[in-house]
Amino acid sequence: MSLSLFSNYRQRQLEALLEISRALTARLDLPSLLRTILGYAAEMIGAEVGYVALLTPNGALRVASGYGLPSNVFHALAPYLAQKRAERDFWNEAELRRQLKIVAEATHIPLEQVVSLPLVLEDEEIVGGIFLFRSGSIAFTAGDRSLLRDFADQAAIAVRNARQMEQLREEKARVEAVIANSPNGVMILDPDLRVVIINRAFSELVGVTEEDAKEKPCHEVLALENLSGDHLCQEGRRPPPPTSVWHGEGDIIRPGYKRTTVGITYFPLFDRNGNLINVIATLTDITRYREAEELKSTFISVISHELKTPVSLIKGYASTLAREDANWDHDMIREIGQVIEEESDRLNDLINNLLDASRIQAGALKLDIEDVSLEHIARTALERLRTQTDNHHFELDFAEDLPTVQADSRRLRQVIDNLINNAIKYSPEGGVIRVGGWQEDGRVVTYVADEGIGIPKDEQSSVFDRFFRVDSSLRRSTQGVGLGLFLVKAIIEAHNGEVWLSSEPGKGATFFFALPLT
Ligand code: ADP
Repeated sequence: MSLSLFSNYRQRQLEALLEISRALTARLDLPSLLRTILGYAAEMIGAEVGYVALLTPNGALRVASGYGLPSNVFHALAPYLAQKRAERDFWNEAELRRQLKIVAEATHIPLEQVVSLPLVLEDEEIVGGIFLFRSGSIAFTAGDRSLLRDFADQAAIAVRNARQMEQLREEKARVEAVIANSPNGVMILDPDLRVVIINRAFSELVGVTEEDAKEKPCHEVLALENLSGDHLCQEGRRPPPPTSVWHGEGDIIRPGYKRTTVGITYFPLFDRNGNLINVIATLTDITRYREAEELKSTFISVISHELKTPVSLIKGYASTLAREDANWDHDMIREIGQVIEEESDRLNDLINNLLDASRIQAGALKLDIEDVSLEHIARTALERLRTQTDNHHFELDFAEDLPTVQADSRRLRQVIDNLINNAIKYSPEGGVIRVGGWQEDGRVVTYVADEGIGIPKDEQSSVFDRFFRVDSSLRRSTQGVGLGLFLVKAIIEAHNGEVWLSSEPGKGATFFFALPLT
């Protein structure tokens, strides 16, 4: 080769390599990159046919890009390559000759020369190979091989980049899936504290769609009340400094929804130069935890109050009886004994209710199922409870031939006793208390109606909650811990039944429960 020819050739080679690195930085997809590299390599060493084969995860080679290669050659080569591993001996002369033969036969070109180089990453990992073939008797030279080395290196870089891109894509998809499906609310903010994205859980918690939230200042999207701790989403707040994570709590109050208490953590994300990139806010619904805490303190105050009253009465009367300086007549002793007995019964009822409530919470309410006549239970309850009051009038109102239900009679007695007791307690002026029932749609509906103080509309949905008592002067003067209706509901639901009420404040309340007939 003359000098000028040689320098032309070098020039062309440099141009080709430059072109390839441009293509690499332009982040073209892997097949087009390999096609470009292979095209230049073939042109530079005067090959008529060639291909780049890549290693598949199971260790076989697969043609990724061809040059002058009809599709039938892919088929002819596939079984050969599939058996081969890209081990060092794969590149030996004998194997290359076998390949040459397959390619020459399939292409019908009298190919006689073959050259190949593995594609090797920095860590020596072989990711595939480049194979070039030409006709004629002039063998590939060491110079051809070294030229090819540059192209093989470029192809290896293209493969590595493609792999990294793929890994990035996978990681991104994974992170996105975690965020999207996290049961906790996630909100990502830009450095100006505007919303970049919110996930589904966040959107459900605050009642704002992702579209509506996007680009809004975060205090418009997350308006919390009753704040405690540190909060970022408030007007005029600045992002937290590096290395600091903020925690706060607050309530989400939406018209028509129950109050939701949330815990929120703000986590700032910085780049290598310490610039804030994002703030990630996670929102956890801690309503139940809060409710449990409130319940615990209600429990302690209610129970201590309710336990104290009978205990101090019993103690007072017992010590009165024990006084040595007093001489009690028979009637007095009987009366005191009666009070002690009644108060002990109250204590016993309270303890039993508490035990039942904790059994229900633990899901351990056992039912002894038998045929039960609701009318019979109501009648005996009324006979027993009638003696407690003089100013109430009791009526039974059961449909004729009401079928029996399959139920736990002891538990149903507890339900009816509770409802009648409440009817007496919450109609201090007296009036009619009616207990009745009928059959409809495969179930028996029973009710207890009174003409008492009734229940305000906005409290009606809460009366079945544990320790709930409607706040009124009467409530303050009547005994009770707010467990009765909770137990009623739990018992009826354990029978696959349903409880509800209708009430007009000042005019009375009617409690219903329905039990299925099968
Ligand atoms: P308690 O009677 O021990 O307070 P309950 O669970 O039986 O607890 O009842 C919860 C609350 O519901 C009561 O405090 C009362 O305010 C209200 N309530 C229950 N039954 C009636 C009724 N028949 N009439 C009016 N209010 C009622």
